[in-house]
Amino acid sequence: MNSIVVNLMQVRQRIELAALAAKREPEEIELLAVSKTFPASAIEEAMHAGQSAFGENYVQEAVEKITQLAKLRPWLIWHFIGPLQSNKTKEVAEHFDWVHSVDRLKIAERLSAQRGEFPNLPELQLCVQVNVSDEDSKSGIPLSEAEALCDSITQLPNIILRGLMAIPAPSSDLAEQRKAFSQVQDCFKHIQTTRLIDPKYQFFDTLSMGMSDDLEAAIAQGSTIVRVGTAIFGKRDKISQ
Ligand SMILES: *Cc1c(COP(=O)(O)O)cnc(C)c1O
Repeated sequence: MNSIVVNLMQVRQRIELAALAAKREPEEIELLAVSKTFPASAIEEAMHAGQSAFGENYVQEAVEKITQLAKLRPWLIWHFIGPLQSNKTKEVAEHFDWVHSVDRLKIAERLSAQRGEFPNLPELQLCVQVNVSDEDSKSGIPLSEAEALCDSITQLPNIILRGLMAIPAPSSDLAEQRKAFSQVQDCFKHIQTTRLIDPKYQFFDTLSMGMSDDLEAAIAQGSTIVRVGTAIFGKRDKISQ
């Protein structure tokens, strides 16, 4: 198995090639290293290879690692990307910089109020998670309701709406992958272009989509953050997925 350093280089190269193929600047696409199930030592290793943004799915596991790595905090940016229940929002508001997985107003309202309890922290950066595969098991708000949820979220203090996030059903077919991502891209562009002069949308610039197996398709459809775990850290235990 390759080292994390080598894997990171390969993933960065994939991003660059995909960007060039899509006639985009590679700098437009940020790599989020998804470190769920891997120890703090793996995060440090990636950090020493120049990686600063890390994604976590499970609140308790994440807070343990964030606490362990507190000394490195100035260099690390923590993104929460997993399903988020009401009783966990406080810890997320306290410890994270970003949340990608907001799919209902109640969660955003709680994050907003709870972030306000930490006046020294900057605004929490939020993305609305949309559901493009229409599977009951997946989280995310239907595309048709995303626009209204975004409008409500932009009214809240202590948070900034940054964009949309999606996890389409896995597919090994590039055309199918692109079709799913293009639905999210269309919704994102619609919201962006209809709110160009709205100052509450001035930071609405983020499309969080693409993982180890479909980042090329996501970049072809305008992704600005790819969330990559396996291709950097290796296979995860099945149980904790
Ligand atoms: C685990 C996870 C990823 C990373 O998936 P890989 O296939 O390992 O790259 C990305 N996004 C979310 C929301 C995840 O839960």
